[in-house]
Amino acid sequence: AEVGARPEPCPAGPGPTRMSVTDQAFVTLATDDVYCQGALVLGQSLRNHKTSRKLTVLITPEISSGMRSVLRSVFDEVIQVDVLDSADSVHLALMQRPELGVTFTKLRCWTLTQFSKCVFMDADTLVLCNVDELFDREEFSAAPDSGWPDCFNSGVFVFRPSLKTYNLLLQFAAEHGSFDGGDQGLLNSFFSNWATADIGKHLPFLYNLSSSAVYTYVPAFNHFGRDAKVVHFLGATKPWNYKYNLQTKRVMQDDTTSGSFHQLSFLALWWNIYSASILPLLEKLQKMEESE
Ligand code: UDP
Ligand code: MN
Repeated sequence: AEVGARPEPCPAGPGPTRMSVTDQAFVTLATDDVYCQGALVLGQSLRNHKTSRKLTVLITPEISSGMRSVLRSVFDEVIQVDVLDSADSVHLALMQRPELGVTFTKLRCWTLTQFSKCVFMDADTLVLCNVDELFDREEFSAAPDSGWPDCFNSGVFVFRPSLKTYNLLLQFAAEHGSFDGGDQGLLNSFFSNWATADIGKHLPFLYNLSSSAVYTYVPAFNHFGRDAKVVHFLGATKPWNYKYNLQTKRVMQDDTTSGSFHQLSFLALWWNIYSASILPLLEKLQKMEESE
């Protein structure tokens, strides 16, 4: 089966603010060149919808120099951080769950104290319209997780960088670890009153629409889905794992991939951005490296 991209979902709103805001940023994370592909599409989608905020990507030392230069053409700031691993104060917690190292790196976003407020977005998210209004929210704002709605999903959240909070998070990680082995369990335990304390800190699900939830509650998606603002391709199979036909502009489905029609149309949207804006950058890089 092949499905094309869905039409532009967001209605024309009042439009983004004209003045750029330099002390606020969208932040994402990539710890390898593969996740960089997601970060680039996310960054490009924010640019396409004319965000007035800075775009920042956190990378780890293993990102190749070529990929760094491509990232610099989409993001305002490419900031290297070290992987949070057993050399850190979370040593003991990580020893029990060695795979934690990588997603705990997300906690480094609290060190970005050059910004007063940020919105973190996973590298496997994509914005469908301008979402700058997220900066009207306070720390810690996030959308419910579709698997356990009393938990928030840590793929999209509003936070205030602070070394004090950062150190408290590291201390908490060392003492308690994470109940799910990743950043989401840790953050839910740390911001444990999220579910009950302040409804203003509950982002609408439309700001973190998991493509798998679309599949579990189709009538709700049919009713509300046109207002989706951020898609999150959570789970093991990421958009870059699919095959895409550059001629027909359609995502190809085989036995190893499955998904509903809507999932596939979101995937096609991801691939449209990737093929139109990111592939040319990667190809230019390849040509430059070949001629060296
Ligand atoms: N991430 C990364 N490298 C990895 C795994 C995760 O850079 O090997 C970052 C990336 O920003 C990713 C986020 O951590 O979007 C959370 O991981 P993922 O999205 O794979 O988890 P899911 O949303 O599927 O639970
Ligand atoms: Mn994710």
